Amino acid sequence: MAGQDCIFCRIAKGQIPSVRVFENDRVLSFLDIHPISDGHALVIPKVHAGSLSECDEGALAELMRITKCLAPAIVKATGSEGYNLLCNNGRAAGQLVDHVHFHIIPRRLNDGVLAHWPHRDYPAGAAEALAEKIRCHLVIS
Ligand code: 5GP
Ligand code: ZN
Repeated sequence: MAGQDCIFCRIAKGQIPSVRVFENDRVLSFLDIHPISDGHALVIPKVHAGSLSECDEGALAELMRITKCLAPAIVKATGSEGYNLLCNNGRAAGQLVDHVHFHIIPRRLNDGVLAHWPHRDYPAGAAEALAEKIRCHLVIS
């Protein structure tokens, strides 16, 4: 879903209003319309890519370069103490907009945001077996 049908492509083209934080020729950052915390921002490549894996290397490098600079500015502007960098990929992971984006989510100590991480333990040998299985599927392009 690119171009006319993609809401973030339409935001990048200025066809849908947004509160822009930063833009250059390749990257746009704007405030999330339903923020988890004040300053919650999205960073997107201007060229459409559905997910992280579909994004070309050059666009991704620029996306990360800008995100690295933007995040501390958002932390300072909001008086926060840290931030989460989140990239949802796929419906199961909570991705609702199929145009790759990083969430920058400003955080304060004990703010309760993203608080539930259901940690578990692997049975003996399972972690090693899984790591080997992952290596079998790995394609470095
Ligand atoms: P996802 O779940 O796909 O990782 O996150 C999509 C994010 O985009 C959500 O946090 C949602 O609030 C935000 N969003 C969706 N539509 C719009 C919009 O039209 N404008 C802005 N500024 N944010 C949006
Ligand atoms: Zn798009």
